[in-house]
Amino acid sequence: MTPLGTAPLDTAVLDGLNRILPIDSVRTDPAYCWAYSYDNSRRQGLPAVVVMPDNHDQVEQIVRLCNRHKLPVTARGLGTGTAGAAVPEHGGLVLCTEKMRACHIDPDNRVAVVQPGVTNGTVQREAAKHGFFWAPDPTSAEYSTVGGNLACNASGPRAVKYGTPRENTLGMLAVTGDGVRVKSGCYTTKGVVGYDLTRLLIGSEGTLAVTTEATLKLTPLPEGIRALRILFSSATAAARGVSRIMAQNVVPRVVEFIDADCLQLIREYSSTDISLEAKAMLIIEVDGPLAQLDHAVNAIENAVKDPALLECRGARNDEETKQLWLSRKALSPALRTIAPKKINEDVVVPVSRLGEFVTTLQTLSKEYGVHIVAFGHAGNGNLHVNLLVDPDDPVQMAQAKPCLAAIFNLVISFGGTLSGEHGIGFEKKEFVGLEIEPATLELMVRIKRQFDPNNILNPGKLFPAASLAG
Ligand SMILES: Cc1cc2nc3c(=O)[nH]c(=O)nc-3n(C[C@H](O)[C@H](O)[C@H](O)COP(=O)(O)OP(=O)(O)OC[C@H]3O[C@@H](n4cnc5c(N)ncnc54)[C@H](O)[C@@H]3O)c2cc1C
Repeated sequence: MTPLGTAPLDTAVLDGLNRILPIDSVRTDPAYCWAYSYDNSRRQGLPAVVVMPDNHDQVEQIVRLCNRHKLPVTARGLGTGTAGAAVPEHGGLVLCTEKMRACHIDPDNRVAVVQPGVTNGTVQREAAKHGFFWAPDPTSAEYSTVGGNLACNASGPRAVKYGTPRENTLGMLAVTGDGVRVKSGCYTTKGVVGYDLTRLLIGSEGTLAVTTEATLKLTPLPEGIRALRILFSSATAAARGVSRIMAQNVVPRVVEFIDADCLQLIREYSSTDISLEAKAMLIIEVDGPLAQLDHAVNAIENAVKDPALLECRGARNDEETKQLWLSRKALSPALRTIAPKKINEDVVVPVSRLGEFVTTLQTLSKEYGVHIVAFGHAGNGNLHVNLLVDPDDPVQMAQAKPCLAAIFNLVISFGGTLSGEHGIGFEKKEFVGLEIEPATLELMVRIKRQFDPNNILNPGKLFPAASLAG
């Protein structure tokens, strides 16, 4: 499969696009295209044209036209992805979904039918009017789209109880690279006809098809939520607590872990009463019927009992819950202040190996002279490992590269996975071979060829360069 090169836009393509779309939905002026050239990875690639369809038929016609002309197509939500997946590395056409924002809630069937450009936050608000929510809850909910969430299998803290887009999407409508309409899944919560193409498309980062509609599974809002702050004098004790929490029968809705260095940043950048003795913190939330919340809190308190436990404090009201989360939310701005161009990975290890993983990260930090901090969704074993380096400093970067490779190797040796929610995009594609066996990777390449024979959909992403050659 030959990667496509960056080329100026053929006038036949432009004429074709202008026949499919109104004039203000086809933009070629470089200043306009520039705004669609990057995502949150800091990578950039200038597209030749940006189009804004508002329905499935238009998407189908656009992709068919591009396929005839072998023009790269990069689907784009709101460009908040962190792995460079929405960056048009090979130029071509950016298919922006910002005009595809329909959102219909069907409470009787606990379903939302949405176009891909609707934000996650809008879905949550519309669903809440009927007493429901959609489980995936990335921090970027207000400024990321459902199309982007599905393409990256993006989720957040609630995934530990409610799952990711893969567990919360019933069906999809999409267009393959050769312009074929794909209708996957069904409208019901049970169904087993044919292959599960919905799960295949979710997480495929726009490399197999452009999503034009999704049928989302909704969950009733819980009657109540209770939060706890739990402090430990060691990270391994906190990790032990996470394992014990996951081994008992009350499933918390949130299990967040914060390491010692992150706690120090929280102390420095916010007003908090976290003691200096604390070397790790868990933030736990349980939810459910009001009558069951005391039992759920007791179950968590019992699970985290440990000689290294310093404090297990339940928030008594909404204000205390807000304060608890404020300390967690102070972390990202603090990290951005001290290391604006940090490397942020989102690896996953089995919950039972979290303690060992966090300890080994500290060993690697010393070995490579790279400051590493870790926090994240511990209930899923999903940690955001941040290398606080300056990419403009060649000495630091020379150390960061092998350090990152050592972290990825460690993750795989622990039975983990390279990305829990941010995806592979451009940034991690050369490491994919560490996790996916050669024969399996070859099968994935064959699937890609079936969906996208001319490799026009998001070329240069997801697969190591060598695997798509030829
Ligand atoms: C401040 C911040 C916080 C974040 N927090 C989280 C978090 O808590 N959890 C998490 O998982 N992620 C998080 N992210 C990452 C990011 O928000 C998610 O990956 C999100 O799903 C991207 O959505 P988007 O609309 O911005 O997509 P984009 O960045 O525009 O695109 C992402 C990928 O989706 C593909 N795509 C978009 N639309 C379609 C479509 N219609 N059909 C096919 N492919 C499509 C693109 O081609 C690309 O591969 C965060 C990002 C930021 C900046």
